[in-house]
Amino acid sequence: MKIIMFGTKPIEKSYAEAWEKKTGNEVKMVADLLNDDTVDMAKGFDGVITQQTQSLGSADVYKKLASFGIKQIGLRTAGFDMVDLDAAKANNITITRVSIYSPRAIAEMGVTQAMYLNRKIGLFNQRMEEDHDFSWAPDLVSNEIFNLTVGIIGLGHIGGATAQIYKALGAKVIAYDPFYDPEQEAFVDYTDLDTVLKESDIISLHTPLFPSTKNIINADTLKKMKNSAYLINMARGGLVDTQALIKALQDGEIAGAGLDTLADETTYFGKKVSADEVPEDYKTLAAMPNVVVTPHVAFFTKTSVRNMVEIALNDTVTIINGGKTRNAIR
Ligand code: NAD
Repeated sequence: MKIIMFGTKPIEKSYAEAWEKKTGNEVKMVADLLNDDTVDMAKGFDGVITQQTQSLGSADVYKKLASFGIKQIGLRTAGFDMVDLDAAKANNITITRVSIYSPRAIAEMGVTQAMYLNRKIGLFNQRMEEDHDFSWAPDLVSNEIFNLTVGIIGLGHIGGATAQIYKALGAKVIAYDPFYDPEQEAFVDYTDLDTVLKESDIISLHTPLFPSTKNIINADTLKKMKNSAYLINMARGGLVDTQALIKALQDGEIAGAGLDTLADETTYFGKKVSADEVPEDYKTLAAMPNVVVTPHVAFFTKTSVRNMVEIALNDTVTIINGGKTRNAIR
């Protein structure tokens, strides 16, 4: 079987090559994204996979792929908003995605940022670098994780993996999720949102961005948090009202924040930009020693990248062979 892999990143190559060796299939790797200008490259192939945030192009792309005998497009991402699902359906093209590639990757980044903040490493760094002050300031004494209460908002795959890590570290873990999952009871005590906000020393956000969760962290909810609490957002920037967060940090309403996502991130995360393209909100947050910002890389581990490539390729073979996969978008 011959599969064309659009949007290939250098880091993905060795995983695609290993898959070729393991399965005996052939993968043609190209850096180009799939769109109206590149779709003809798929001629002669049995299957297509891609990783891109940009649109896959007009309805003609799906029509052309169907005319080449292609039955599927495999996305190496969880998101599928770049696909015209109507055009795919009209041309009998099944879209697959990789909805779960490594919840632990994201969970570990959240815990890493919380640990960094809890041990006040940014604050120590600032004193050492700016003032040559290497003293043990009493206000920088830390708590150990096993003495803390961690609150998880959104106890799904990633929230659950996060809860398990904190539980293993000895923390008390509480969670708010409107859907109850009995399997999580081994790691968390379910409670309401207000209790999570008021009682947690670390709050970790893991809910998807829905109209109902947009700005779930806002001026009111930030006021309910402890002054000593840390907010960790590994999910979506839109869950947090950035202006309200900046104000709460400036006013000392909370102790710090770890952020892998920001509301305006699509204009600059994931690429190199010029100095004038860096937004003010980012600059304000990044300048605070009690804030850590990473550019949406919580997922970015070898395991995640391998799984994204392998699962998309395996699903491609399954669909071409007339089989079914739970990763198909219906
Ligand atoms: P999931 O669907 O397994 O879990 C989401 C959970 O949120 C579910 O249990 C759901 O019941 C809960 N939820 C829904 N509405 C809620 C509400 N109003 N309040 C509290 N909980 C609510 O999803 P997941 O795989 O755990 O991923 C969670 C989010 O993480 C994704 O939606 C995505 O935004 C984000 N994510 C980030 C990265 C990264 O690299 N930073 C990577 C992957 C996913």
